[in-house]
Amino acid sequence: MAKFIPWKAIKAKRERERGAASAVALDTEPVARPARDARPTPEPLPPPLVGDALAPAVHRGPLVHAVSRCRWCHQPFRKMDEKHWICTTGECADRQLAAAMRKAGHSSGPILFLPLPLQIDIDESPVPHLLIAGAAGVSKSVGARWCLYRRCRLVPGYRALLLRCTYGELEKNHLQFCGAEAKALGDATYKNRTVTFSHGDDEGLDAKIFSGYCDVAADIPQHLGAEWSEVCFDEAVTFLPDAINQITSRARGAATARAAIERLGLPPGRTRLFSNPGGRAMRALVAAYIKKNPDRDLFPQYDASQYGHISCTLEDNPYLDPSYEQTALSGLSAARYQQLRFGSWDIYAGMFFENWDSAIHLTTAEPA
Ligand SMILES: [Zn+2]
Repeated sequence: MAKFIPWKAIKAKRERERGAASAVALDTEPVARPARDARPTPEPLPPPLVGDALAPAVHRGPLVHAVSRCRWCHQPFRKMDEKHWICTTGECADRQLAAAMRKAGHSSGPILFLPLPLQIDIDESPVPHLLIAGAAGVSKSVGARWCLYRRCRLVPGYRALLLRCTYGELEKNHLQFCGAEAKALGDATYKNRTVTFSHGDDEGLDAKIFSGYCDVAADIPQHLGAEWSEVCFDEAVTFLPDAINQITSRARGAATARAAIERLGLPPGRTRLFSNPGGRAMRALVAAYIKKNPDRDLFPQYDASQYGHISCTLEDNPYLDPSYEQTALSGLSAARYQQLRFGSWDIYAGMFFENWDSAIHLTTAEPA
């Protein structure tokens, strides 16, 4: 039978042994550490954040994204906390943090949304009608919605319209998230497909994001009755070209936001068209927003200075797993791979020539 030893006796014995070991250690030269050659060399830590001492602690470890690169400085992103990626360059990180969205009234609380450099470029672009000509998976829908939240918090009376082609797409990509996001933001409510941001007791100064769909020609008129501070077409190639043209004409600025817009020095109205390449509006979008040479017989009033585009690729989105290209895009045809991997908007020419490259196959020279 095992002999019973009281716990107090065990504890006292251990303390005696620990004390003896300490005494030995004090009497001897420091023991050399074992060689660490077998261990991998640790990753160098990213540079410290600048400017926002109250930002969430930076995680240490191999959390630098293997694929994504910051479009401003071309350096990699690192994981800043459980949810967010931030550029490893201090100056870029500061710009991201300056645009971060937190709960209302909490200037240093947890970050709800940390815009990527791409999303800041889209928001700050002075181009009134801007196409974000993207690859697949560049976080366009989420970024579009949160940039609208940011504007609504900034501009009292802002009136935005967020559109998807069909109601099902609207529900899946936006509406299912709006209630929880409004609650997290603290100064917003969500009801009847509308997110409302309060700007004090005057309800006339509330900023609102209405959402809707526009699949067929009969859907267009319901969006023409108001004037908008901003219209956002999510997955723009899926809309009818005529829907884009007609609704864009209503983004002239809402009267409710006019005073704040002037005070802040912002343009009165704008459109943002987020899209992958490849749908029924692609030719029209390429002509008006990329090549800027639409048919003048159809668009005699077209003003090229009002239109532009930003190209984005998978590298812009560190929220994608580094293996995304291999796992999600590997089964595509050559043309569709070019569209979704590189955001190649030239590939509609690839309906005839799959190896089309505008840099090779287009020339400005007059024919001989
Ligand atoms: Zn950067």
